[in-house]
Amino acid sequence: MDGSRRVLPSGTTDGVITAYHHPDFAAPIGQHVMPMRKFQMVADGLAGNPFVEVAAPVAVSEADLLRVHTVDYVNAIRTGEPRALAESQKFPWSPALWPSVLLTNGGVLAAARRARRDGLSAALASGFHHAHADHGEGFCTFNGLVVAAEALRAANEIRTVAVLDLDLHYGNGTASLCGDRPWLFNCSIYGNEYHANTAYRDVAIRRHEDGPNHVSIALPNGSGRAFLMDAVARGTAAILAWGRPDLVLYQAGADPYREDPYSPLDLDDDDLRERDRAVFAWARREGLPLAWVLAGGYTPDVSRVVAVHLGTFEAARGVCG
Ligand SMILES: [Zn+2]
Repeated sequence: MDGSRRVLPSGTTDGVITAYHHPDFAAPIGQHVMPMRKFQMVADGLAGNPFVEVAAPVAVSEADLLRVHTVDYVNAIRTGEPRALAESQKFPWSPALWPSVLLTNGGVLAAARRARRDGLSAALASGFHHAHADHGEGFCTFNGLVVAAEALRAANEIRTVAVLDLDLHYGNGTASLCGDRPWLFNCSIYGNEYHANTAYRDVAIRRHEDGPNHVSIALPNGSGRAFLMDAVARGTAAILAWGRPDLVLYQAGADPYREDPYSPLDLDDDDLRERDRAVFAWARREGLPLAWVLAGGYTPDVSRVVAVHLGTFEAARGVCG
């Protein structure tokens, strides 16, 4: 093993990708389409990998959340009342939800901060791109992407952030949070037009509104590698046309996978690894720090989801190692 080289988009130093994980990322929500245990399974799959160091993040604070979310919504998640708001993300509320979401958002923040130092880092947590300022949607409680971006801005560590969202679903929460944040850019490349807690909407059904700092590229039903790779090229070009961000947050979704119950796309493990390689190669070429998160993935055999997420680490090593 060559553990002496750190992975950097700019190609400097030695080593190892730091991936943030905590056993308490998984809120105890019982049997649910959202496979909470995948986070631990990915961590287990990385154990012994000489190119990855798994580290525990610190939880975000309530003040970190309140830069992005309303007081009423934050209180609802902490207390469970009003219950409809506390469960707007479609999880059964329990007192364990609050510490769990503070930790997962902390994972995204730690990875973002680490990427600024090392060039590349990961959080074994979701980005939570459906979460809005005043409510959750689609298994997303607090928008960890924007919480992390706001925390780093508040600490004067960065000024601008671009989100490259390659989850199957349109990142409607992040797009809504772009409205009053001209320093934030969101590019969502999606095959399922998620909208208002509706799990599946065909991209042909509805066209959402793009804005000056949030754009989207729809992948029609049946899209395979060629269409996906073209979209990645267009999406990364859109980010650079907006500006050169101080940080890229990459939503590496496992739900575009062809066996995923929500996916109408024709993409297998190799296609998704190729997608990841293209994203990492772009960031390295441009010298942009990049932190990635494990976005959605609902294939009933959760080992298939874990394989896609582990494939993202292989792609990172292949490009940057
Ligand atoms: Zn998704």
